[in-house]
Amino acid sequence: MNYYGDPITKLIEEFASLPGIGGKSAQRIAFHIINMPKDRAYALSNAIKDAVENVHYCSICCNLTDEDPCPICSNITRNHNIIMVVEDPRDMAAYERTKEFNGVYHVLHGAISPMTGIGPSDIKIKELLTRIQNNDVEEIILATNPNVEGEATAMYISRLIKPLGIKVTRIANGVPVGGDLEYVDEVTLSRALEGRREL
Ligand SMILES: [Zn+2]
Repeated sequence: MNYYGDPITKLIEEFASLPGIGGKSAQRIAFHIINMPKDRAYALSNAIKDAVENVHYCSICCNLTDEDPCPICSNITRNHNIIMVVEDPRDMAAYERTKEFNGVYHVLHGAISPMTGIGPSDIKIKELLTRIQNNDVEEIILATNPNVEGEATAMYISRLIKPLGIKVTRIANGVPVGGDLEYVDEVTLSRALEGRREL
């Protein structure tokens, strides 16, 4: 199987292990890189190294950032009493693109999924509770994905937070069921946010 020599085979294997990249694409990318001017290829490898070394979780919202707190948490013009809980940094980016939300976020980095063995302690729920206990929070908007795992996660968090006397809302069903928030258009997301209901 090692037609090209070890370094290229290794490069192809690395790309093939990435999400959404099959064997053929991995070969195409590997050969593209080999044929790049050297400075372009080094820029690519440096970008990976830089991201891996400098990107970490925001100590407040758990979003990925190279600053701490992240730009959203350190923005004083935003409403820090309203926290939108999302599964993934990409969901946060999708809501930011709507320009409709002026609160802050909490990124869970996943959803509760008994099927795949992901429990409440595997995502950033503890961090959310600590944050709520130490700050004045008016409303928690649960914007987890509208699928089984996202609903289960929203219910779980709601049960923990409601007894604290904080308003807990869930985004509306404008988002297609089973859909992935990241791919939903901005108008639909804005409507889902506007039509949120209290749990
Ligand atoms: Zn943050």
